[in-house]
Amino acid sequence: MQTPSLKHRIISASFWITLFVSIANPVCAEEVVVYSARVEQLIKPMFDAFTQQTGIKVKYTTDNEGALMARLQAEGKNTPADMLITVDAGNLWAASQAGLLRPFDSQVLIANIPEHLRDPGNEWFGLSIRARTIIYNTRKVKPEDLSTYENLADPKWKNRLCLRTSKKVYNQSLVAMMIAEHGEAETEKIVRGWVANLATDPLSDDTRALEFVAAGRCDLTIVNTYYYGRLIQKDPDLPLGIFWPNQKDSGVHVNVSGAGLTRHGKNQQAAEQLLEFLSSISAQKLFTDVNMEYPVNPNIVPDPIVASWGRFKENHINLVKAGEFQAAAVKLMDRAGYR
Ligand code: FE
Repeated sequence: MQTPSLKHRIISASFWITLFVSIANPVCAEEVVVYSARVEQLIKPMFDAFTQQTGIKVKYTTDNEGALMARLQAEGKNTPADMLITVDAGNLWAASQAGLLRPFDSQVLIANIPEHLRDPGNEWFGLSIRARTIIYNTRKVKPEDLSTYENLADPKWKNRLCLRTSKKVYNQSLVAMMIAEHGEAETEKIVRGWVANLATDPLSDDTRALEFVAAGRCDLTIVNTYYYGRLIQKDPDLPLGIFWPNQKDSGVHVNVSGAGLTRHGKNQQAAEQLLEFLSSISAQKLFTDVNMEYPVNPNIVPDPIVASWGRFKENHINLVKAGEFQAAAVKLMDRAGYR
């Protein structure tokens, strides 16, 4: 038998290589479609990093969470979306309750994300932490006079407290988590105390609440830390101090921005890969840098500005309670006169 010539062997090898490459990289490139309630500048850096690493393209649509969930519901099995990204466990829980998400049992996500920041049924996962804490006017409040969220109901804070409206899911989740911890009756007493201490009607957003505190129109408020970070970055001389409540008991109330895979997504494997990537060290660094939030992955140091606010003990009750008690929280706040 004649041995194959060198030229023949090269041609044969290149045939097999070509065949292998064309199987591994089909002509239509892989992609993932994301519906995001987070704005473009907060998600694009992570998607770009993912595409760079994997070659998988990420297409995304941004809108508010209500509109995106209604769209997923209406599209049903025909949805082009593989993943939903939104803020607040209350919203993620609502998407799960509406049957819009599917569980993903991933060892990577379980290893990277602490248990209290993800759905026990694995339908949604926290990707960044926002702490909802006390901010005070440094000219009017001594930090040693502060202690807990519950203590803000004490009459010593009469006409000194500002709060954002109870219509915002952030406050609904805060109160829902308090119900999980204290029960409804005790929580209602606390919320009534807050209302009795208000210096002004509830405000439209966290930034406005901070501006009121800075201007001395009230002495303290409860907001998410990144709003404080943004404001203090613009004007470092504002008389605003950050305080971590409940350090001797249950810890600071935290919430997440997070994601889940849609029930009827078409690019399931690529979407799973993206979700795991978002919990990885490189993506987690981006998460904290773009919005001054905290990483969920405990192996990452936050952005230097965020780190300068100090370390704190966080509440470890599973955030699924923010959803489970959301309706009860809304009714409770209404009864207590918190508008
Ligand atoms: Fe926000």
